[in-house]
Amino acid sequence: MNPDLQIQNKKYTTKSVITDSKKFYIESYGCQMNFADSEVVASIVSKEGYNLTKNLKDADLILLNTCSIRAKAEQTVRKRLEGFNKLKRYKKNLKVGVLGCMAERLKNKFLEEEKIVDLVVGPDAYKDLPNLIKEVNVGRDAVNVILSKEETYGDISPVRLSKNGVSAFVSITRGCDNMCSFCVVPFTRGRERSRDPKSILEEIELLVNNNYKEVTLLGQNVDSYLWFGGGLKKDFKKINVLRQRTSINFSKLLKLVAETFPFLRVRFSTSNPQDMGLDVIIAMSKYKNICNHIHLPVQSGSNNILKAMNRQHTTEEYLSLIKKIKKIIPDCSISHDMITGFPNETENDHKSTLNLMKKIKYNFGYMYKYSERPGTFAAKKFEDNISELTKKNRLQEIVDLQQVHSSFRTNNFTAKIVEVLIEKESKKSSLQWSGKNQQNTVVVFDKKGFQIGDFVNVLIKNCTSATLIGEAINYSNK
Ligand code: SAM
Repeated sequence: MNPDLQIQNKKYTTKSVITDSKKFYIESYGCQMNFADSEVVASIVSKEGYNLTKNLKDADLILLNTCSIRAKAEQTVRKRLEGFNKLKRYKKNLKVGVLGCMAERLKNKFLEEEKIVDLVVGPDAYKDLPNLIKEVNVGRDAVNVILSKEETYGDISPVRLSKNGVSAFVSITRGCDNMCSFCVVPFTRGRERSRDPKSILEEIELLVNNNYKEVTLLGQNVDSYLWFGGGLKKDFKKINVLRQRTSINFSKLLKLVAETFPFLRVRFSTSNPQDMGLDVIIAMSKYKNICNHIHLPVQSGSNNILKAMNRQHTTEEYLSLIKKIKKIIPDCSISHDMITGFPNETENDHKSTLNLMKKIKYNFGYMYKYSERPGTFAAKKFEDNISELTKKNRLQEIVDLQQVHSSFRTNNFTAKIVEVLIEKESKKSSLQWSGKNQQNTVVVFDKKGFQIGDFVNVLIKNCTSATLIGEAINYSNK
């Protein structure tokens, strides 16, 4: 159980909640998009007169931004909601809201069947929060899970919830059109749409003015970004030629950001292999402030499984893309997402995944056991027929192999000088800073006179599979 809640259950008193203004507490689960969305929600709720609190026990409104990607993510949220429900015994006016993908997937179920929340809001309905909160405050349940063709929250200035004040997420697309057969995202986040580049640049300008040093441009599939005045990406073909010709794609957006803010580090995530063009790779090589790291999920190394997953690429196409990336940007790091135990995955399919990994030697990766999601194509068409034990064993094998490759990659940095943006104090020592190099690997080193937000050249002297350990030499030329 979360320590906050344990303390809460023992020490909760009515005395601690008497305050002048109402307070809200927000907790986020799942992907980076969810964390970015919570910052949009925080902005909307703050305008309603609620102050953000980091202390659960002070909250009048608890919001949980949820994830549906795997069954386990949903179970975690349920446990948390049950905990919040206990708090209501001590604080009668406490309201609990569930936001995001789980809200979208389960809709009224939370309110009508389970009765464990007061408020249910899907990812495209956050602007309706002021009305919904009013409903809830007069004792009515409130729900809005309508998906939108237009909503990108481009006009909302997010309230930054992440602690470091150095790096921030900036959403550039919403939804996903890929329809990977295992994935619930197109159903919970709707169809793909892109955000107005002007509002993206304005958001980044504000961050730069507030001393932020790094942004990550976010979307389920950033390389598919296409601005042509708003609306769903799938409608692009229907618009007139002039609007098509003056549209802005991802490489143009990247260049705009990199050129407008030359002292800002620029990252992006997630890339899907079929949409990553040469123009993006060339832009990365041309602008030194675009970081040399690409998160390029592949999901499997077997063409049979990729086909069943409805991935829009083969392993050969994927490898050829990586070859192009490495040719143009030799020191570019590549990370992956991998799913093990997809329906009908044979031992040979699994071996193909291990072989693909051996060819690429990824810098790092996120690896998962297949989790059947209701409503997806895979759930409808295929039996979840790989035993839990086989899934577990195969996952362990790919995790172990990744560990070997990660060590190989971090070892390659030893005796080299890397540029690090200092983000925070190291978890292990208050005498050391922690930051990341361009390739997105964590670097720790003695603080000397440097400060959070500084760009520093660090000589790498040692490493683990996930961390580089070095000595700061001087400021880099930023
Ligand atoms: N848009 C990216 C893509 O399609 O490659 C990322 C989507 S998802 C938010 C993040 C990762 O969760 C996926 O890349 C996939 O590896 C994993 N994932 C999605 N659905 C899953 C499922 N049903 N079971 C296990 N892992 C899943």
